[in-house]
Amino acid sequence: MSNAMIEVECWFCGESLIVEDKPVEMNYFGKHIEERNFHEYCKPLYRKKRDEIKEEYIKLKIEVMFERALRMMEKQDGFHINDYKEASEVVGELARKNSKKFDSSHEMMAAMELINNRIHTKVQYPLNKRRIDMLLPSLKVALEIDGVHHNFIIGKDSDRDIEILNELNKDDKGWEIVRIPTKIIENNLKELIPTIRHIYKEKQDLRRRNGGFIPSYYSRTNLSSHLKAVQGVDDPTVNSYRDAVFREDSPS
Ligand SMILES: [Zn+2]
Repeated sequence: MSNAMIEVECWFCGESLIVEDKPVEMNYFGKHIEERNFHEYCKPLYRKKRDEIKEEYIKLKIEVMFERALRMMEKQDGFHINDYKEASEVVGELARKNSKKFDSSHEMMAAMELINNRIHTKVQYPLNKRRIDMLLPSLKVALEIDGVHHNFIIGKDSDRDIEILNELNKDDKGWEIVRIPTKIIENNLKELIPTIRHIYKEKQDLRRRNGGFIPSYYSRTNLSSHLKAVQGVDDPTVNSYRDAVFREDSPS
C-alpha cells in the first residue's frame, strides 16, 4: 500500500509541492533524518546557486588570506613591505589562478619571502600521491609550513618523510624535508631563509654522523637552542643568493 500524498512547500521557489507522506527515516546510527523538499526542476537551480556562492566564497577567502598576509608583513619590525611588490603580485596571481595553491596566509608569506630572495619555489609540488607545500630545488629542500600540530622541527623521519626523501634523493642526493612553524613566519619573516638553511645543515650533519639517519633522541631542547641560534641571524649568503639562483620562470 502506498503512502498518502501531502502538500509541502518547495525550499527553493516557495511554491507548493506534493510529496509522499513517508514515515521518518532512520539512518545507520538510528538518528532521524529529514531532508528539505524541492521540486525536481528546482533541484538543479538550487545546486547551481549553491555552487556559485561556494565559488564566490573561495575567491573572497583567498583575497582575505592574501590581505592578512600583507598586513602581518607590514606589522613586522623593520620590514620593508614596499620591496615585496613584485613578489606579492606573483603570489597573488598564483593564488587567484588556482585556489588550491595556498592553504594559509603563512604559506603566502613564505612564498613571498622566497620569491623576493630569488629562490626558485615550486608551490604545492606533487610527488607520487603526496603534495609538498614548497619545493626549493636550489636548496634541496622540501619545505612544509606547519601550524600548531607539529611543534618540533627536527624529529626522526616519519614514514611519509622517508617516502618523500627516497623519491627526491633518487637522482640527486642531499634533499631534506624542512618544517617551519608558522610562529617563525609570523614573528619575523626575515628569519625564514636563515632558519631553512640552519635546519637543512643540522639535518645533514646529523645524518652524516648517524649513518644516514636522524637519531630519535633529537629533542625539543635541541630545537629551542637551535632556534635561539637562528634569532637575529644576518646571513650574508642570503643576499649573494638573490642573484645566483634567480630564474625567470615564476613558481608553478
Ligand atoms: Zn520549486
